[in-house]
Amino acid sequence: MLLGEDFDLHEEHRDHNHIHSHDHHDDHHHHDNHYSDMQARVKALETLLTEKGLIDPAAIDVIVETYETKVGPRNGAHVVAKAWSDADFADWLKRDATAAIASLGFTGRQGEHMRAVFNTADTHNLVVCTLCSCYPWSVLGLPPVWYKAPAYRSRAVIDPRGVLAEFGLTLPEEKKIRIWDSTAELRYLVIPERPAGTEGMDEAALAGLVSRDAMIGTAIAGSPEALR
Ligand code: FE
Repeated sequence: MLLGEDFDLHEEHRDHNHIHSHDHHDDHHHHDNHYSDMQARVKALETLLTEKGLIDPAAIDVIVETYETKVGPRNGAHVVAKAWSDADFADWLKRDATAAIASLGFTGRQGEHMRAVFNTADTHNLVVCTLCSCYPWSVLGLPPVWYKAPAYRSRAVIDPRGVLAEFGLTLPEEKKIRIWDSTAELRYLVIPERPAGTEGMDEAALAGLVSRDAMIGTAIAGSPEALR
């Protein structure tokens, strides 16, 4: 909207299935302990479920650890590398990202739909969730803290170039930036441009060039020289 940028607000957030109280309470409520409302509720729920023998805290830790480090952004990097290497797959990804990504075994935990947005010579894509923190878990794992921060959520829309500069990314003036607002139903994966000098590389090596931030749009894919 500002700076001639394009802002795609695809859907209202009315159907969000997250709990949003952390967005509204953190700043002005003070508790006698160090937990926010949300953390206290999660903690209380975990304690209750553990006492009733319904969950094993160790199992919860394994799930969190899996999303932080194992699933992490490696699934997404695999999707990008395949799109770079296989034109048919790239085509499928453009038409029906949910199905194309599911074909690799990466499916959402909440049935959300995926859309892949391809960077081109003319256009750079940037993903945000302006209302909270919707994020494509199945391909990127857990969102980074800054993705959930109010500063990123508001400024990505108002001043995308300023935000990208803070990430160390300065795009040519003439490159257009499209901003995609995630929802609980629709989540975005940025397909960065394939770097120059990667012609002979196989999918596994290509995936090594694709960072989490490149798939959110706050970075571009790494150059092969940077790996050496
Ligand atoms: Fe959200």
